[in-house]
Amino acid sequence: MYAKPDSTTMKARVAKAGDAMDAALKSLSYGMSDDERRMSAVGLQGMRGANDPGLPDIAPDIAPLPESAQRVPNEVALGRPSRQEAEAAVRTLLRWAGDDPTREGLIDTPARVVKAYEQIFGGYRADADALLERVFEEVEGYSDAVLVRDIPFYSHCEHHMVPFMGLAHIAYYPTKGVVGLSKLARVVDAFARRLQTQETMTAQIADTIESILQPRGCAVMVEAEHLCMAMRGVQKAGVSTITTQFRGVYKNDPSEQVRFLTFVRNQKG
Ligand SMILES: [Zn+2]
Repeated sequence: MYAKPDSTTMKARVAKAGDAMDAALKSLSYGMSDDERRMSAVGLQGMRGANDPGLPDIAPDIAPLPESAQRVPNEVALGRPSRQEAEAAVRTLLRWAGDDPTREGLIDTPARVVKAYEQIFGGYRADADALLERVFEEVEGYSDAVLVRDIPFYSHCEHHMVPFMGLAHIAYYPTKGVVGLSKLARVVDAFARRLQTQETMTAQIADTIESILQPRGCAVMVEAEHLCMAMRGVQKAGVSTITTQFRGVYKNDPSEQVRFLTFVRNQKG
Protein backbone atom coordinates (compact mmCIF):
# COMPACT_ATOMS: atom_id res chain seq x y z
CA MET A 1 0.00 0.00 0.00
CA TYR A 2 1.28 3.44 -0.83
CA ALA A 3 -0.06 6.94 -1.26
CA LYS A 4 0.31 9.08 -4.29
CA PRO A 5 -0.47 12.74 -4.85
CA ASP A 6 -3.09 13.40 -7.47
CA SER A 7 -3.98 16.74 -8.97
CA THR A 8 -7.58 15.62 -9.56
CA THR A 9 -9.54 15.22 -6.34
CA MET A 10 -10.94 11.78 -5.68
CA LYS A 11 -14.34 13.37 -5.14
CA ALA A 12 -14.34 14.71 -8.70
CA ARG A 13 -13.13 11.40 -10.08
CA VAL A 14 -15.76 9.42 -8.20
CA ALA A 15 -18.43 11.85 -9.34
CA LYS A 16 -17.68 11.23 -13.00
CA ALA A 17 -17.00 7.54 -12.61
CA GLY A 18 -20.60 6.71 -13.38
CA ASP A 19 -20.06 7.91 -16.93
CA ALA A 20 -16.73 6.16 -16.98
CA MET A 21 -18.54 2.85 -16.49
CA ASP A 22 -19.63 3.14 -20.09
CA ALA A 23 -16.07 3.70 -21.18
CA ALA A 24 -15.03 0.72 -19.10
CA LEU A 25 -17.68 -1.36 -20.83
CA LYS A 26 -16.11 -0.60 -24.19
CA SER A 27 -12.67 -1.49 -22.94
CA LEU A 28 -13.79 -4.45 -20.91
CA SER A 29 -11.32 -6.68 -22.66
CA TYR A 30 -8.02 -5.99 -24.25
CA GLY A 31 -5.47 -7.71 -26.42
CA MET A 32 -8.14 -8.85 -28.86
CA SER A 33 -8.15 -8.76 -32.63
CA ASP A 34 -10.71 -6.48 -34.32
CA ASP A 35 -12.94 -9.45 -35.11
CA GLU A 36 -12.81 -10.65 -31.55
CA ARG A 37 -13.51 -7.16 -30.30
CA ARG A 38 -16.58 -6.85 -32.53
CA MET A 39 -17.87 -10.21 -31.32
CA SER A 40 -17.14 -9.29 -27.77
CA ALA A 41 -18.92 -5.96 -28.11
CA VAL A 42 -22.10 -7.75 -29.13
CA GLY A 43 -21.76 -10.08 -26.20
CA LEU A 44 -21.07 -7.28 -23.79
CA GLN A 45 -24.12 -5.33 -24.91
CA GLY A 46 -26.17 -8.44 -24.29
CA MET A 47 -24.57 -8.86 -20.91
CA ARG A 48 -25.30 -5.32 -19.96
CA GLY A 49 -28.91 -5.67 -20.98
CA ALA A 50 -29.22 -8.84 -18.94
CA ASN A 51 -27.98 -7.17 -15.82
CA ASP A 52 -29.69 -4.34 -14.02
CA PRO A 53 -27.18 -1.48 -14.21
CA GLY A 54 -28.42 0.10 -10.97
CA LEU A 55 -26.74 -0.40 -7.64
CA PRO A 56 -28.63 -2.43 -5.07
CA ASP A 57 -31.26 -0.94 -2.87
CA ILE A 58 -30.60 -2.77 0.35
CA ALA A 59 -33.88 -3.59 1.98
CA PRO A 60 -34.00 -2.74 5.67
CA ASP A 61 -34.32 -5.25 8.49
CA ILE A 62 -33.65 -8.42 6.56
CA ALA A 63 -32.83 -11.45 8.68
CA PRO A 64 -30.88 -13.62 8.99
CA LEU A 65 -27.50 -12.68 7.57
CA PRO A 66 -26.21 -14.81 4.70
CA GLU A 67 -23.12 -16.76 5.70
CA SER A 68 -20.76 -14.99 3.31
CA ALA A 69 -21.81 -11.61 4.67
CA GLN A 70 -20.90 -12.38 8.23
CA ARG A 71 -17.85 -10.69 9.58
CA VAL A 72 -19.41 -10.25 12.99
CA PRO A 73 -20.05 -13.14 15.39
CA ASN A 74 -23.48 -14.66 14.98
CA GLU A 75 -24.64 -13.68 18.46
CA VAL A 76 -23.82 -10.05 17.72
CA ALA A 77 -25.79 -10.20 14.49
CA LEU A 78 -28.73 -11.88 16.21
CA GLY A 79 -28.65 -9.37 19.04
CA ARG A 80 -29.22 -6.48 16.68
CA PRO A 81 -30.63 -3.53 18.61
CA SER A 82 -34.03 -2.14 17.78
CA ARG A 83 -34.53 0.97 15.66
CA GLN A 84 -35.58 2.84 18.81
CA GLU A 85 -32.34 1.85 20.55
CA ALA A 86 -30.32 2.97 17.51
CA GLU A 87 -32.08 6.34 17.42
CA ALA A 88 -31.50 6.79 21.16
CA ALA A 89 -27.80 6.14 20.58
CA VAL A 90 -27.69 8.91 17.97
CA ARG A 91 -29.34 11.30 20.46
CA THR A 92 -26.65 10.37 22.98
CA LEU A 93 -23.92 11.19 20.46
CA LEU A 94 -25.56 14.51 19.63
CA ARG A 95 -25.57 15.41 23.32
CA TRP A 96 -21.97 14.21 23.62
CA ALA A 97 -20.99 16.48 20.72
CA GLY A 98 -22.48 19.39 22.66
CA ASP A 99 -25.79 19.94 20.89
CA ASP A 100 -29.41 19.70 21.97
CA PRO A 101 -31.24 16.78 20.29
CA THR A 102 -34.61 18.36 21.16
CA ARG A 103 -34.08 21.54 19.17
CA GLU A 104 -36.08 21.86 15.98
CA GLY A 105 -33.25 21.27 13.52
CA LEU A 106 -32.19 18.02 15.19
CA ILE A 107 -35.51 16.55 16.22
CA ASP A 108 -35.75 14.20 13.19
CA THR A 109 -32.01 13.68 12.85
CA PRO A 110 -31.78 10.37 14.79
CA ALA A 111 -34.44 8.81 12.55
CA ARG A 112 -32.68 10.12 9.43
CA VAL A 113 -29.29 8.84 10.58
CA VAL A 114 -30.65 5.36 11.29
CA LYS A 115 -32.36 5.30 7.89
CA ALA A 116 -29.13 6.39 6.21
CA TYR A 117 -27.24 3.65 8.09
CA GLU A 118 -29.56 1.06 6.60
CA GLN A 119 -28.21 1.99 3.20
CA ILE A 120 -24.57 2.85 3.87
CA PHE A 121 -24.11 -0.25 6.02
CA GLY A 122 -26.48 -2.40 3.99
CA GLY A 123 -23.53 -4.51 2.84
CA TYR A 124 -23.75 -6.57 6.04
CA ARG A 125 -26.98 -8.00 4.70
CA ALA A 126 -25.76 -8.49 1.12
CA ASP A 127 -24.57 -11.92 -0.02
CA ALA A 128 -21.60 -11.15 -2.27
CA ASP A 129 -21.23 -14.76 -3.46
CA ALA A 130 -24.85 -14.91 -4.55
CA LEU A 131 -24.36 -11.75 -6.64
CA LEU A 132 -22.00 -13.66 -8.96
CA GLU A 133 -23.48 -17.14 -8.82
CA ARG A 134 -25.56 -18.21 -11.81
CA VAL A 135 -25.17 -14.86 -13.54
CA PHE A 136 -22.01 -15.42 -15.54
CA GLU A 137 -22.14 -15.99 -19.26
CA GLU A 138 -20.19 -18.67 -21.05
CA VAL A 139 -17.31 -17.32 -23.11
CA GLU A 140 -16.35 -20.09 -25.45
CA GLY A 141 -13.05 -19.45 -27.18
CA TYR A 142 -12.34 -16.27 -25.28
CA SER A 143 -9.51 -16.67 -22.83
CA ASP A 144 -7.91 -13.25 -22.57
CA ALA A 145 -8.27 -11.00 -19.57
CA VAL A 146 -11.43 -9.08 -18.79
CA LEU A 147 -10.88 -5.72 -17.15
CA VAL A 148 -13.41 -3.44 -15.51
CA ARG A 149 -12.09 -0.06 -14.52
CA ASP A 150 -13.34 2.87 -12.45
CA ILE A 151 -16.08 1.25 -10.40
CA PRO A 152 -17.04 4.02 -7.96
CA PHE A 153 -17.67 3.18 -4.31
CA TYR A 154 -18.33 4.83 -0.96
CA SER A 155 -17.30 3.18 2.28
CA HIS A 156 -16.61 4.02 5.93
CA CYS A 157 -13.36 3.38 7.76
CA GLU A 158 -13.72 1.06 10.69
CA HIS A 159 -11.44 3.16 12.87
CA HIS A 160 -13.36 6.45 12.80
CA MET A 161 -16.62 5.63 10.99
CA VAL A 162 -15.72 8.42 8.56
CA PRO A 163 -16.20 7.98 4.79
CA PHE A 164 -13.57 6.89 2.36
CA MET A 165 -14.39 6.84 -1.33
CA GLY A 166 -12.76 5.98 -4.56
CA LEU A 167 -12.55 3.64 -7.52
CA ALA A 168 -12.07 -0.09 -7.87
CA HIS A 169 -10.43 -1.77 -10.86
CA ILE A 170 -10.86 -5.50 -11.46
CA ALA A 171 -9.27 -7.88 -13.96
CA TYR A 172 -9.60 -11.63 -14.34
CA TYR A 173 -8.84 -14.40 -16.80
CA PRO A 174 -12.16 -16.20 -17.23
CA THR A 175 -12.40 -19.98 -17.24
CA LYS A 176 -16.09 -20.61 -16.50
CA GLY A 177 -17.51 -17.36 -17.82
CA VAL A 178 -17.73 -13.61 -17.46
CA VAL A 179 -20.14 -11.41 -15.52
CA GLY A 180 -21.63 -8.04 -16.38
CA LEU A 181 -20.23 -4.78 -15.12
CA SER A 182 -23.16 -4.14 -12.84
CA LYS A 183 -22.64 -7.45 -11.03
CA LEU A 184 -19.03 -6.57 -10.24
CA ALA A 185 -20.16 -3.12 -9.14
CA ARG A 186 -22.62 -4.79 -6.76
CA VAL A 187 -19.90 -7.01 -5.32
CA VAL A 188 -17.78 -3.90 -4.69
CA ASP A 189 -20.81 -2.26 -3.07
CA ALA A 190 -21.57 -5.28 -0.89
CA PHE A 191 -18.17 -4.90 0.76
CA ALA A 192 -17.94 -1.11 0.62
CA ARG A 193 -21.20 -0.71 2.54
CA ARG A 194 -19.67 -1.96 5.76
CA LEU A 195 -17.16 -0.66 8.24
CA GLN A 196 -13.95 -1.39 6.40
CA THR A 197 -10.28 -1.04 5.93
CA GLN A 198 -9.25 -0.51 2.33
CA GLU A 199 -6.92 -3.51 2.51
CA THR A 200 -9.65 -5.86 3.77
CA MET A 201 -12.12 -4.64 1.18
CA THR A 202 -9.63 -5.22 -1.64
CA ALA A 203 -8.98 -8.77 -0.45
CA GLN A 204 -12.69 -9.55 0.01
CA ILE A 205 -13.46 -8.50 -3.58
CA ALA A 206 -10.63 -10.71 -4.86
CA ASP A 207 -11.76 -13.63 -2.64
CA THR A 208 -15.31 -13.47 -3.99
CA ILE A 209 -14.24 -13.35 -7.64
CA GLU A 210 -11.74 -16.14 -7.08
CA SER A 211 -14.14 -18.48 -5.30
CA ILE A 212 -17.16 -18.00 -7.57
CA LEU A 213 -15.73 -17.35 -11.05
CA GLN A 214 -12.64 -19.51 -10.49
CA PRO A 215 -10.53 -17.49 -12.94
CA ARG A 216 -6.97 -18.39 -13.94
CA GLY A 217 -6.01 -15.16 -12.25
CA CYS A 218 -7.57 -12.13 -10.67
CA ALA A 219 -6.29 -8.62 -9.94
CA VAL A 220 -8.03 -6.00 -7.86
CA MET A 221 -6.85 -2.43 -7.31
CA VAL A 222 -8.65 0.00 -5.04
CA GLU A 223 -7.70 3.66 -4.90
CA ALA A 224 -9.41 5.81 -2.32
CA GLU A 225 -9.34 9.08 -0.47
CA HIS A 226 -9.87 8.76 3.27
CA LEU A 227 -11.74 11.68 4.78
CA CYS A 228 -10.51 10.76 8.25
CA MET A 229 -7.03 11.65 7.03
CA ALA A 230 -8.06 14.73 5.04
CA MET A 231 -10.35 16.12 7.76
CA ARG A 232 -7.96 15.60 10.61
CA GLY A 233 -5.11 17.30 8.82
CA VAL A 234 -2.74 14.33 8.75
CA GLN A 235 -2.61 14.51 4.99
CA LYS A 236 -3.78 16.96 2.38
CA ALA A 237 -7.02 16.38 0.55
CA GLY A 238 -6.54 14.80 -2.85
CA VAL A 239 -4.07 12.17 -1.71
CA SER A 240 -5.24 8.73 -2.70
CA THR A 241 -4.22 5.45 -1.15
CA ILE A 242 -3.78 2.45 -3.42
CA THR A 243 -4.19 -1.20 -2.47
CA THR A 244 -3.82 -4.23 -4.72
CA GLN A 245 -4.49 -7.96 -4.58
CA PHE A 246 -3.05 -10.34 -7.15
CA ARG A 247 -4.21 -13.95 -7.44
CA GLY A 248 -3.33 -16.84 -9.76
CA VAL A 249 -1.40 -15.83 -12.88
CA TYR A 250 -1.38 -12.22 -11.66
CA LYS A 251 0.43 -13.34 -8.53
CA ASN A 252 2.85 -15.67 -10.30
CA ASP A 253 3.69 -13.59 -13.36
CA PRO A 254 5.01 -10.04 -12.80
CA SER A 255 4.45 -9.20 -16.47
CA GLU A 256 0.71 -9.78 -15.94
CA GLN A 257 0.79 -7.29 -13.07
CA VAL A 258 2.53 -4.76 -15.30
CA ARG A 259 -0.05 -5.31 -18.03
CA PHE A 260 -2.88 -4.76 -15.54
CA LEU A 261 -1.35 -1.66 -13.97
CA THR A 262 -0.48 -0.19 -17.36
CA PHE A 263 -4.00 -0.65 -18.62
CA VAL A 264 -5.51 0.91 -15.51
CA ARG A 265 -3.14 3.85 -15.68
CA ASN A 266 -2.93 4.54 -19.41
CA GLN A 267 -6.56 5.16 -20.10
CA LYS A 268 -7.33 7.47 -17.24
CA GLY A 269 -9.33 10.46 -18.34
ZN1 LIG B 1 -10.27 6.41 9.68
